[in-house]
Amino acid sequence: MLIDAHCHLDHLSEDDANAFLEHLSEKNLQALVACGAKAADWDFYKNLSHTFSSLKVCYGIHPLEITEDWEKDLDFLEKFIPQGIAVGEIGLDFHGIFQQAYIPQMKLQMKVFERQLRLAKKFDLPVVIHCRDAFPILKEILIYSQFPLQRVMFHCFVEDLEAAQWIEAQGGYVSYSGVLTFKKPGHTVETAKQFPLDRIFVETDSPYLAPVPFRGKQNSPELVRYVAQKLAEIKNIPLEECIQITANNTRRFFKF
Ligand SMILES: [Zn+2]
Repeated sequence: MLIDAHCHLDHLSEDDANAFLEHLSEKNLQALVACGAKAADWDFYKNLSHTFSSLKVCYGIHPLEITEDWEKDLDFLEKFIPQGIAVGEIGLDFHGIFQQAYIPQMKLQMKVFERQLRLAKKFDLPVVIHCRDAFPILKEILIYSQFPLQRVMFHCFVEDLEAAQWIEAQGGYVSYSGVLTFKKPGHTVETAKQFPLDRIFVETDSPYLAPVPFRGKQNSPELVRYVAQKLAEIKNIPLEECIQITANNTRRFFKF
């Protein structure tokens, strides 16, 4: 059975999320890893994860969810982290802001990212990374923070081969989303070919990034099958084997 290694449910009402999680196995899903990416969502995820053991939750502050109250949010985060399986999603998103006028914003993202890496170390948890147009700087922060790459998952991995090779050499993990199935998959197909299968996850990042043939529609965790299907083609292995290996990788990395 499938595991979606990265998704969001907070676009749903609590009732709809409950109804969805009650019927996971009918959708051939054994578990979901969901990210509570902003303070306003953490209670929602905490309540759901207490009801459904198949829902595994990461708590963190997404780089685009940093508020004026970020210091308070970080304090608040410490109450949730021990109930989660990882700190995430955290990282840097410099898309469209990599210019002088936005330096304070970029610096703040870097600071909040570093602080959360420290929290992950303190609670002995892995991290889920969101990185957009910021890989070289994010890499420097990981090195400078001495954060062990064996405990880092790059979610929705779209970086180039050089980045993939560095992550591989350091023992890190990558997770592929529906981008892998797109007509223009960027670097994803190339890096998926090279990256060791025992350190790859599949995810939907739903409700975003629906895979082909659902592109443009609202994504849902069961569509992770299409990502697994594409990865199986790339790795030239049967789909069932691909589903099992990626699910095992996810459980091993997050320890559930
Ligand atoms: Zn996400």
